[in-house]
Amino acid sequence: MAAVKSDIEIARAATKKPIAEIGARLNIPSDALLPYGHDKAKIGADFLKSLGDRPDGKLILVTAINPTPAGEGKTTTTVGLGDGLNRIGKKAMICVREPSLGPCFGVKGGAAGGGYAQVVPMEDINLHFTGDFHAITSAHNLLSAMIDNHIYWGNELDIDTRRVSWRRVMDMNDRALREIVNSLGGVKNGFPREGGFDITVASEVMAILCLAEDLADLERRLGDIVVAYRFDRSPVFARDLKADKAMAVLLKDAMQPNLVQTLENNPAFVHGGPFANIAHGCNSVIATKAALKLADFVVTEAGFGADLGAEKFFDIKCRKAGLKPAAAVIVATIRALKMNGGVKKEDLGAEDVAALTRGCANLGRHIANVRKFGVPVVVAINHFISDTDAEVAAIKDYVSHSGAEAILCRHWAEGSAGIEELSRKVVELADSGVADFKPIYGDDLPLMDKIEAVATKIYHAGEVTAEKAVREQLKAWEDAGYGNLPVCIAKTQYSFSTDPNLRGVPEGHVVHVREVRLSAGAGFIVAITGEIMTMPGLPKAPAAERIFLNDDGLIEGLF
Ligand code: ADP
Ligand code: MG
Repeated sequence: MAAVKSDIEIARAATKKPIAEIGARLNIPSDALLPYGHDKAKIGADFLKSLGDRPDGKLILVTAINPTPAGEGKTTTTVGLGDGLNRIGKKAMICVREPSLGPCFGVKGGAAGGGYAQVVPMEDINLHFTGDFHAITSAHNLLSAMIDNHIYWGNELDIDTRRVSWRRVMDMNDRALREIVNSLGGVKNGFPREGGFDITVASEVMAILCLAEDLADLERRLGDIVVAYRFDRSPVFARDLKADKAMAVLLKDAMQPNLVQTLENNPAFVHGGPFANIAHGCNSVIATKAALKLADFVVTEAGFGADLGAEKFFDIKCRKAGLKPAAAVIVATIRALKMNGGVKKEDLGAEDVAALTRGCANLGRHIANVRKFGVPVVVAINHFISDTDAEVAAIKDYVSHSGAEAILCRHWAEGSAGIEELSRKVVELADSGVADFKPIYGDDLPLMDKIEAVATKIYHAGEVTAEKAVREQLKAWEDAGYGNLPVCIAKTQYSFSTDPNLRGVPEGHVVHVREVRLSAGAGFIVAITGEIMTMPGLPKAPAAERIFLNDDGLIEGLF
């Protein structure tokens, strides 16, 4: 067997078309494309505005079962399906998130798809790309600087320096900066206080950029950010510091979607990339809405498994942006289902139909859950070389008993040729008109009841517990007018429960809400269960040690 090529080798061998040709496929005039080099372009704001009253295409969500640490191929399948739809003659495009730069140097590698289903230029997309994340970092830190500057010059707003909730960010995995004391070194440097850094993708500015409809909405949301509390516990907003307008200036270009192409020269928007735990984990609303005006089918991805990613896509993004998904694809891999059935990572190579069948319960629950949102489902089996025929047959059999269909997909190895059957099925589901999207809870429900609705209906928890302080905080936010916001639950991605080791289909477990945070600008309440990392560290031997420029000046080691 020929050696399997790495993602970067395949990406580098791609025959890319000039970005103007890709834009032309979507009927984007060349003066509406703002090129960044030859193979990337932003879409001009005026052109986006002019799309207003065109009819919308159909929105397809790609989500997944509870993953294994390796990732199950959601991005790969999103890209593959976009290519597959084009292959069967549909005008289709893809909307995915921009990867964070920091984790590329840790363990994760790139996040632009894999095998023969990738978006390119892979190196750019994974690193500086069009500078959006740098702009977000700058806008975020401008606000941080203005807070400490305000305190330095007399603290007219009466900010309680012990209650500054706005931290600093950078796009790098750096655990040394998680908790710091800033303003050390004497009077000229201000008032020392505890602070810290999060990674840029965890910034509320990122979530805001991804949910804002336009620049005016962006500016309003930036103004709504709660940065600190006064001694009387009343909130201080970014608007009070007069930071919102300057932040919007820094974000003006970052708000415009980035157009790139797949390995098969089909159009893709890669735009925005919020965390999927403390934020909603989807690409920008502005990109998705533009794509729906430009193509008949738009394939998009939500982070983590369907319990987190799809739930937030539906309950936060679709609810707030008025999007109505037409169908959902749940990506499953045989190895992840076997792990959900109790097989250890080192034993995944051996056929084990019994464990796979046990693990299929996890898939079954995700199918039932997604249907609760009124969206029809098809399962994509993302084929790995080690999968056996008996195992594939077992999943298909299981899924057909749940009233859906599982389709074997070989897009990772074969590109669009390997995903035609799934593409046809997705068109059939989306065109059938059976979708009748509705969020899982209403806007008017009390905040605690919203958390309970997700925990019981989606996670199958028996009970939600919370400290008195958490309940009181939620009540206080309701009294302050935030009661109609959706909730964004931060939970482990590896289990329906809050225990990452409880794979399969845990039932009746307890979801304990440890902490709640208000993201008033983004427009949701974050409920934290378990430990959530907002500044990752690097592993003992980080990928950075193996990333270098070769003799031809090309990047190596970015897998
Ligand atoms: P996710 O979006 O679910 O995190 P990705 O699509 O980014 O997952 O894929 C994670 C990694 O797995 C990538 O490096 C990709 O190349 C690899 N991968 C995906 N599908 C397959 C497959 N069918 N066979 C082998 N490797 C795969
Ligand atoms: Mg992904």
